[in-house]
Amino acid sequence: MCNLKQSLEQLDPQIYDLIQDEKKRQQMSLELIASENYTSRSVMEAMGSILTNKYSEGLPGKRYYGGNQCIDKIENLCIQRCLEAFNLDPNEWGCNVQPYSGSTANFAVLTALLKPNDRLMGLDLPSGGHLTHGYQTSNTKISSTSIYFQSMPYQVDMVTNLMDYDTLEKNAKLFRPNLIICGGSAYPRDWDYSRFRQIANQHGAYLMMDMAHIAGLVSVGVLNNPFEHCDIVTTTTHKTIRGPRSGVIFFKKHLENKINFSVFPSCQGGPHNHQIAAVAVAMKQLKTPEFKEYIIQVVSNAKTLCKRLTELGHTIVTGGTDNHSLLWNLKPHGLTGSKMEKITDVCNISINKNTIASDVSAMSPSGVRLGTSSLTTRGFDNDDIIKVADILDDCFHLAMKIQSNSSSKKLVDFERKIDEYTDEILLIKNKVSHMTTGL
Ligand code: PLP
Repeated sequence: MCNLKQSLEQLDPQIYDLIQDEKKRQQMSLELIASENYTSRSVMEAMGSILTNKYSEGLPGKRYYGGNQCIDKIENLCIQRCLEAFNLDPNEWGCNVQPYSGSTANFAVLTALLKPNDRLMGLDLPSGGHLTHGYQTSNTKISSTSIYFQSMPYQVDMVTNLMDYDTLEKNAKLFRPNLIICGGSAYPRDWDYSRFRQIANQHGAYLMMDMAHIAGLVSVGVLNNPFEHCDIVTTTTHKTIRGPRSGVIFFKKHLENKINFSVFPSCQGGPHNHQIAAVAVAMKQLKTPEFKEYIIQVVSNAKTLCKRLTELGHTIVTGGTDNHSLLWNLKPHGLTGSKMEKITDVCNISINKNTIASDVSAMSPSGVRLGTSSLTTRGFDNDDIIKVADILDDCFHLAMKIQSNSSSKKLVDFERKIDEYTDEILLIKNKVSHMTTGL
């Protein structure tokens, strides 16, 4: 019989060991994936707590199950802290903290505010938008947000890679959207919310900001404030907020009933109370002076990374960044993002390949996306980031060498060749290990 008091290590050494391996990987590698971060011990304590045992469908004070006295207090505290974290007046704004994640938060908003087949506009995925902002290809509706709603994307300017507000305005006049989504997953610049508002107003459309990536930066005021112009603001809580994996929907008060009904019962079942408690813990941390210092360093590190890579002869999309992330365009050197990702992976550096807006193939994107939130959490400052840029440059030169010695430009041939460069890889791995050991 299964002993409920046994530790994970005793009960399931296989899973325990795999977790230890992943822990080692996270400690030993240079983590540059812009959507990730290292959360705190306190957040993990709440996530691993007995709160996972409880069902609490409904809202505080209005539950479908008994025994929710403590859960109600936790959810109310979480709501209060979310509003405080973004300096919101509770008479004007409310929030729902039950979405399981960012994608479900976004779908719940669309379900609340649109009818099936209504029209929405979001930033195109190759321009830096997120799947849930209506992504579809010419022959496949990829995201449920394009399956259940009519979606017309807007894009960045193909030369400057900056948001093309004029074309959005022109296309919106033809498409007449019911809702416009701003925000994205790979856009290194700030957003002009008042321009978005102007365009939305021309069609009586709702304006929704998905600040999943930049929420931490918004909370400390280093970027424009979406709450000044939007009806709805959604976020994840595990990126720059540094909390658990979860989602939050902020709404103007008059939309409260629609949003709450949409989250439950329309889109979800019982709330994940361990997540909600952990979000509350993360939101408390957002209000500390240390968090503000952290975010200022995240942005400074991202700017330093752009500067150093540029000095080394590389091309940074839009010439820099306003936030925690940057896009490195490898096309001028004839390399793909996929090959760069392969090389960094074997050298214990985590990055992700990413399209550059003008790419014709999403399968073979020209760039990589880098972010500085995780390394800053580990205490990296500007000098450390210069060393990181130099290591990335080493990876780039190794990738170029392997490519020129491969039998073709195909990724499979490149991958086959990697094994012949163990000495060079070891050299880079040693530099990585030098930076991560002892942190
Ligand atoms: N919105 C944006 C802008 C994102 O970047 C992401 C994820 O990276 C999401 C939503 C989806 O969040 P999740 O993966 O938690 O569903």
